[in-house]
Amino acid sequence: MTGQDRPGLIGRDRARLWHPYAPASPDLPLWEVEAADGVRLRLRGEDGIRHEVVDAMSSWWSVIHGYRNPVLDAAARRQLESFSHVMFGGLTHAPAVELAERLVDMAPSAPGRPGLERVFLADSGSVAVEVALKLALQFQSTSGHPLRQRFLSIRGGYHGDTFAAMGVCDPVDGMHSAFPGLLAGNVFAPRPPAAASATPETVGAWASVLADIAAAHSGELAAIIVEPLLQGAGGMHAYPPECLNVLRNVADRHGLLLIFDEIATGFGRTGELFAADHAGVVPDIMCVGKALTGGYLTLAAMLCTGEIASTVSRGQAGALLHGPTFMGNPLACAVANASLGIIGDGGWRADVARIGAGLETGLAPALALEAVRDVRTIGAVGVIELHNAVDVTAVTAAAIRQGVWVRPFRNLVYTMPPYISTAADIEQITAGMTAAVAEVHGRVVHERVPARAGGAA
Ligand SMILES: *Cc1c(COP(=O)(O)O)cnc(C)c1O
Repeated sequence: MTGQDRPGLIGRDRARLWHPYAPASPDLPLWEVEAADGVRLRLRGEDGIRHEVVDAMSSWWSVIHGYRNPVLDAAARRQLESFSHVMFGGLTHAPAVELAERLVDMAPSAPGRPGLERVFLADSGSVAVEVALKLALQFQSTSGHPLRQRFLSIRGGYHGDTFAAMGVCDPVDGMHSAFPGLLAGNVFAPRPPAAASATPETVGAWASVLADIAAAHSGELAAIIVEPLLQGAGGMHAYPPECLNVLRNVADRHGLLLIFDEIATGFGRTGELFAADHAGVVPDIMCVGKALTGGYLTLAAMLCTGEIASTVSRGQAGALLHGPTFMGNPLACAVANASLGIIGDGGWRADVARIGAGLETGLAPALALEAVRDVRTIGAVGVIELHNAVDVTAVTAAAIRQGVWVRPFRNLVYTMPPYISTAADIEQITAGMTAAVAEVHGRVVHERVPARAGGAA
């Protein structure tokens, strides 16, 4: 930029704003979004050149019904004309009550198992996780187990960026190893074997290590917290549904609460409404977020059993000790109700199956690239795993030239497309991802190995 020029929007951004997990830098790669509609974003680069791209990320897994969705737009407008916000202390309103009823109706259930019937509305996924952890501690101390203060998690997890949530993320690979002294000393079991290559023996071996760790620490553990079936931001690692039964049994044997963080997996993404439903397992506490409002507004929720709610309410504190200013925001709840209404129509199931099949076919050719270690799909999630770290800036730019928006991390280029993506959109996404990896990380093609041979560790 030369002295007199008024900087463009991107320059003004770089001078004033922080972006996620980014340095405050005059060189930060950024694209301006000028418009968004359906599955498409119109981007403007620093050079002024415009690109129309398919959003392969659903804006971090949230915009499942697409941008400017007429049903969600109408719900937001209707609520705006009524009221946008009121405090939730001592007041209530129809959008929050309806949302709680919808969530309880949809939540995983099984005969003979207490259902999830009480809902705490939070303003982000991380906060919902904080509330879940806090509730577990309050439950244990009220139940006569004040020494149960730690959490058991599995390696490779991601549960958010606030302090308690960071403390249950992967302790090494997480983005949070910069805060060693501040993170509580939680207990970690190995991650379960990869779904694609798991055998009864590897699952059994994992289960026995988990059982030993739980037994060794049972007197000091309050709860187990995991992302069921698919570890997202910790590495896009899918594991077998049987592992959820193992977690349920270990929790029951040692008096631990089982917390499922369904913030990434909830609302159909893995092919069932919740990832827990693949195993018919009901957790004691569940967190949802991300796609809850179809990506329109920030909202998350924590659900728990009636027994946990009544126990904590009888405790010394007489309350669950949390209450965000914007708790139960009516505008967000109204849009969430509209989004869950679309989910309730049931079309997502065929969409996710169709998208999953398209991702599997479309990404298969990437396995022939020398740089690629594994290609995998689960539900409407498609992952290209490289042997080495992705050149994020170069791959992002190459994908944009192919008409696709992706946000790779570590050694992963992945997609979680909106459920409204057409077959042509999915072809554009998979071809664009593959071409971008080939362009940046080398076109050398190796002898085509049988699919899955190099499965993820
Ligand atoms: C994104 C995510 C969170 C954190 O949600 P925020 O809304 O970003 O705070 C927690 N857990 C999982 C599994 C997530 O994917």
